[in-house]
Amino acid sequence: SRPGEHRFSAVLHRIAEEMAARDDHGAPADYIPMLAGADPRRFGMAVAEPDGTVYGVGEWRQPFSAQSITKVFALALALSLDGERIWRGVGREPSGNPFNSLVQLEYENGIPRNPFINAGALVVTDRLQELTGDAAGQVRELLRRESGNPDIDFVPEVAASEAAHGDRNAALAHFMAAYGNVTHPVPDLLTAYFRQCSIEASCADLALSAGFLARHGVRADGSALLTRSQAKQVNAVMLTCGTYDAAGEFAYRVGLPGKSGVGGGIIAIVPGECTLCVWSPGLDRRGNSVAGVAALDRFTTLTGLSVF
Ligand code: GLU
Repeated sequence: SRPGEHRFSAVLHRIAEEMAARDDHGAPADYIPMLAGADPRRFGMAVAEPDGTVYGVGEWRQPFSAQSITKVFALALALSLDGERIWRGVGREPSGNPFNSLVQLEYENGIPRNPFINAGALVVTDRLQELTGDAAGQVRELLRRESGNPDIDFVPEVAASEAAHGDRNAALAHFMAAYGNVTHPVPDLLTAYFRQCSIEASCADLALSAGFLARHGVRADGSALLTRSQAKQVNAVMLTCGTYDAAGEFAYRVGLPGKSGVGGGIIAIVPGECTLCVWSPGLDRRGNSVAGVAALDRFTTLTGLSVF
């Protein structure tokens, strides 16, 4: 889009210029070879307005590996289909530990701290599998519907790569299974979880798809996915738990509910105003996109928008 064309176009262009001038871009995720090769200087950012208008800067239409961003959509589906029951198996407290940490599970009886660390996301995927028979397919369908992009899909090579390096996730799932907090056979659960993580989508797709969180639960077609208070709850968990063990820092700098993924994407919600998605594959040591966090920090600083 051209500067000035939309509400935040000028801000986005300014941010893109600032990000291009940075010399610290972080390093791409290296736990699977499929992500390790990415150029950390790549950058895209999109804004979606509640009415479905979407625009952006840089590579805002470039599909990338959504990874943990899909955890928000899985949680929303589980809440919408089964309400409060999901909270029997997963908590709502920040973990202060890395996304793939095992340590808290033992002294908390196999109940993960929150749905956005891997252990908690495995519980959500397990429940969604129970409810729908195809958790990953349901997440893909939600993204396709809300974005209007029927091409959003799994990347089988990424899922296979996750599986080939999946010992930690398998350990988390087996450990929770020992407490009865996972009902499906672990290999089946991991297959669903890795497919869900492998979804590729662009900043435009993900900003549009998260629109229901800015519209207080209302989907693109006007129907309700979540109640107003459920939408508030998902946003609250994103604010406190959405950026791994750096959620406090993210809230401090950005001041918005956000969810990052190790592919370098971050979605962020300005309730009632808009949704944002930024992508840049270089990560900091906690696994959040360096330019992504910086760009969102600049967005809320320049516009004065935040939940505070
Ligand atoms: N598929 C990744 C894993 O489970 C997701 C990690 C992430 O994006 O936080 O290791």
